Amino acid sequence: MDTQMLIGSRFETGTETEEHILNPKTGETVLNLPEASLSQIDAAVDAAEKAFVAWAQTTPSERSAYLLKIADAIERDAQGFATLEALNCGKPINAVLNDEIPAIVDCYRFFAGAVRNLHGPVAGEYLPGHTSMIRRDPIGIVGSIAPWNYPLMMMAWKLAPAIAGGNTVVFKPSEQTPLTALKMAKLLSEILPEGVVNLILGRGESVGNALINHPKINMVSITGDIATGKKVLQAAAKTVKRTHLELGGKAPVIVFDDADIDAVVAGIRTFGYYNAGQDCTAACRIYADAKIYENFVADLTSAVSSIRFNHADDTENEIGPLISRRQRDRVESFVTRASEHKHMEITTGGKVSGDKGFFFAPTVVAGATQEDEIVRREVFGPVVSVTRFTDVEDAVTWANDSDYGLASSVWTRDIGRGMKTAARLQYGCTWINTHFMLVNEMPHGGLKQSGYGKDMSNYALEDYTAVRHVMINHG
Ligand code: NAD
Repeated sequence: MDTQMLIGSRFETGTETEEHILNPKTGETVLNLPEASLSQIDAAVDAAEKAFVAWAQTTPSERSAYLLKIADAIERDAQGFATLEALNCGKPINAVLNDEIPAIVDCYRFFAGAVRNLHGPVAGEYLPGHTSMIRRDPIGIVGSIAPWNYPLMMMAWKLAPAIAGGNTVVFKPSEQTPLTALKMAKLLSEILPEGVVNLILGRGESVGNALINHPKINMVSITGDIATGKKVLQAAAKTVKRTHLELGGKAPVIVFDDADIDAVVAGIRTFGYYNAGQDCTAACRIYADAKIYENFVADLTSAVSSIRFNHADDTENEIGPLISRRQRDRVESFVTRASEHKHMEITTGGKVSGDKGFFFAPTVVAGATQEDEIVRREVFGPVVSVTRFTDVEDAVTWANDSDYGLASSVWTRDIGRGMKTAARLQYGCTWINTHFMLVNEMPHGGLKQSGYGKDMSNYALEDYTAVRHVMINHG
């Protein structure tokens, strides 16, 4: 197992506080990893600064070739990466191997192609005797900070557009899930020039904080909690850094009375509970038309109670445990508080499962109202609430009545109704008759307090490059 940070071309062990890296399926410690010191963080930033000079001058086709090599290397070692991700996150091995790894490989391949098509849009004479052109150039050193729910995928979403755009990176994985990032560091050191990507380990309040406040960092890209995003903004103000924020979500799902209920139930069973609900786009806040509400809740309850988890044969599992005891206890406390209100009913799940690891049974909370905590706050666990509506206007108003603005979906057989509703939803993404489906060609990112950076697609490449004007005097 790779355990060392990457600083320039050197592999180093941190010298500060040790973090226990756990196996969420058992609660046992896999290994202890010390975090980076301030001088190691400085050295990583210096290495990125030194590498930037040459890297920023490589051609798109050269950078594209590096990205393709990275994609091929991950694909060749898919089993190794999947095994490690499953160990560190508790994910079912098949979910990592069949869903995540192909999407991760495709992310590097997408940006390998996209960067060769990144053009400045004009060249013309806007002043007599002068030609103007628009360039898209790298921003500089990017400090990238990732969360624990999809460690390898978040790394791909951040690294691929950043290095494709000619930037160099200092990357910090979540202190809870660094194992695949450490494996990536080894792979990247064998492919990329020294210092283009550096990897440091540590907690948010220490190492993350030092990174976002570092005067030489030109841009901070973070996926995490809203509270963390706000800290990034405060730190960025000191040296006017660019920021790329991907924060939480609380996705509303509007189910109209003409929806194909079997399809909705199957959809929520998958998209509400995938990754044990630790997903910022999870279909977790359902608004169901009163005409179909009772049947829908009954069918959803029965479907969710059949979700397979915590089986000894991992290939049978559909979802894993929560990432930590703390996260499991947090999820449990949300459900306990909901159950204390008479108008809400836990129709399935609602409890911790098993005597080891951090499992929580997939849960449906029926009868929730717009003011309930379970509807308003991000639970980030296998818990879906269902709220009844009689007036479509209420459903749209409630769906939009959230601090979050990342993802949403509408379920109806009437495509006109679906389109009309989608147009009114204040979310970075709205799916019609599906949920959660992402493709590397399309942007992923939020509105409101879910942040404003776009991952994937050409929009990410734009986020990681700066628009510049160059003017030539004909003389
Ligand atoms: P978190 O904000 O606690 O941590 C995210 C990362 O930020 C970690 O690497 C952490 O070490 C670091 N961090 C924490 N405090 C910091 C500080 N003061 N300075 C610098 N870095 C700091 O979030 P988490 O618990 O790891 O992840 C879950 C959150 O991420 C959820 O809210 C979820 O919705 C969100 N998320 C969003 C997206 C998206 O695309 N919008 C994707 C995945 C997860």
